[in-house]
Amino acid sequence: MKIVLLGPPGAGKGTQAAMLMSRYDIPQISTGDMLRAAVQDQSPMGIKAKEYMDAGGLVPDEVVVGIVRERLQAEDCENGFILDGFPRTQPQADALKHVLAGLGKQLDSVVSLQVETEALVERLTGRRTCSACGKGFHLRYDPPAEDGRCNSCGGSLVQRDDDREETIRNRMQVYHQQTAPLEDYYRNEGLLAVVDGMGEIPAVQKAIVSVLQDC
Ligand code: AMP
Repeated sequence: MKIVLLGPPGAGKGTQAAMLMSRYDIPQISTGDMLRAAVQDQSPMGIKAKEYMDAGGLVPDEVVVGIVRERLQAEDCENGFILDGFPRTQPQADALKHVLAGLGKQLDSVVSLQVETEALVERLTGRRTCSACGKGFHLRYDPPAEDGRCNSCGGSLVQRDDDREETIRNRMQVYHQQTAPLEDYYRNEGLLAVVDGMGEIPAVQKAIVSVLQDC
């Protein structure tokens, strides 16, 4: 199963991709996670990417395409993958098609998660991550037992730099301008499935699995 999850920041792509990963036993490929790891490592690419990420903009296409091209060649992608946060521009979508064609593969489905803007802002501003083990929390929907502390390991909870309200608005605008047009792109390719992402996490997962069964 070779899947792309499309949707604005906060639509639940990461959460749903992680569930699909266990269900289908295929890797989740999150360009956001890979870029954050590069920032953490302070690699030259990470240092450059951080500027764009902190501003809520997009990291240049050639950088992101390079990371994904390499990742898709790994052995664990042989039976499929879930792309989460890639592609985000038309040149990225073109590059993806090209890379997959070179590997003798093509996408099975592009699932677009639909969530209202105000709900997205609420989801993102409340999001916290454990700085030690990476576990995710939400101040309203999944709060930690102790303020600012991870339930699993006791590590301190942090907010992503780009989850602050002013940066979020910019990320939304970038999404509408550069990524939303990919819905038409994939609709024209006969690959698009639109799923309501406003419901509870298990209900959204069920809806995604149901559209994937038909492809
Ligand atoms: P995410 O975790 O998917 O919300 O990504 C966090 C940030 O990483 C984005 O706001 C961008 O700055 C950058 N990023 C992630 N994926 C891409 C991509 N496909 N193209 C360009 N920038 C990206």
